[in-house]
Amino acid sequence: MVIDLRQLSVDKDVFDIEHKNISGIRMFNRRNFLIKAISSLLYLPFSGCAKAVGPSSIKHEHRVNKLSDSPNFNKSTKRFQHPAGDLHDKSFSDLFDFFAEYFRRPHDKWERIGFPVRKSRKNELENFNKNVVWVGHASIMINHSNLTILTDPHFSGYASPFSFMGPKRITEVPFTIRELPPLDVVIISHNHFDHLDEQSIRQIAIYQPEVKFLVPLGLKRLLLGWGANDVTELDWWQSIKIKGATFQPTPVQHWSKRSAFDRNETLWAGWMTQWQDFSFYFAGDSGYSNDFREVSKRLGNPDLAAIPIGAYEPREFMKSAHINPEEAVMVFNDLGAKRAIAIHWGTFKLTLEEMDEPPHRLKRALEIAGISKDRFRVLQHGEFWPESLS
Ligand SMILES: [Zn+2]
Repeated sequence: MVIDLRQLSVDKDVFDIEHKNISGIRMFNRRNFLIKAISSLLYLPFSGCAKAVGPSSIKHEHRVNKLSDSPNFNKSTKRFQHPAGDLHDKSFSDLFDFFAEYFRRPHDKWERIGFPVRKSRKNELENFNKNVVWVGHASIMINHSNLTILTDPHFSGYASPFSFMGPKRITEVPFTIRELPPLDVVIISHNHFDHLDEQSIRQIAIYQPEVKFLVPLGLKRLLLGWGANDVTELDWWQSIKIKGATFQPTPVQHWSKRSAFDRNETLWAGWMTQWQDFSFYFAGDSGYSNDFREVSKRLGNPDLAAIPIGAYEPREFMKSAHINPEEAVMVFNDLGAKRAIAIHWGTFKLTLEEMDEPPHRLKRALEIAGISKDRFRVLQHGEFWPESLS
């Protein structure tokens, strides 16, 4: 199947070009836009041809020296690798088919209007204590035992290398970075644009220069370049203790890519955080694998897990990288989680399922599995967990 380029050039719901307001692109014309639109395909978080060779391999040579000691680094490909292999290695033909479908999709109601947001009150954020809130997509803020953690912060309008085009935010953020309470730790799962947002990191680093960033191997230099002062990069199963809590990245079946030629040059991870009396597992982004059983076997059952439920269609294309709601329930069981929050849905239009399908399918899957929806909750954007977490 071939992409209809005329479709690309007029699909303003996807790219929402606000060229009137953006300095430097007043010279906008159709040809420039087409070039940008096509090049953006290389960056979109769910694209994935692995057979990239090119200029980055030169840069790669001296970076490998630091990273190649990792048992998760494949010395022949000079890329990180999950034990199951690089399952999301798509051909150009698969990618074109996917994008052709993506750009021709019918736009559902939620994609047009977004989901309702629970706006936090000032005092709720100022006194954020022993609680958890879903900020949106993969961003969770949690406080336990005087430690506040934010995962994969994303407060921008697009999950994209561009500030004006790409997968657009459809549901607004419940509060701004300036309104965040003092953070101790920011956890990053991987470098895809819907999880690692440059502007959000830069702003957090400005407003909260003391915050500690924890990243998987290979991402430290990028965050330091964005103004972060305190960045620690870790391999799967390595650990670090901060204010009485132990943080550990864990394997997940996923991949990384931020430009045309850097596929899997940096690691990706889920994260377990363990206090003496509580534990929180953040799955980040993952296809279904045995990793979650391994996590519970090695690190115990989390008291709370953040598990993705969206961005899974078309199934054959996405299943190596993203679980669906039924698999999310399997992950919940594999982890032996006491409670979970559904993440990775309702915020950016990444894939082809209707925006409100993930929570409906999760509800059915939980009923079939005999798990109360009060244990695996679908929160609204900005909603706090309604009961005590302890
Ligand atoms: Zn991803």
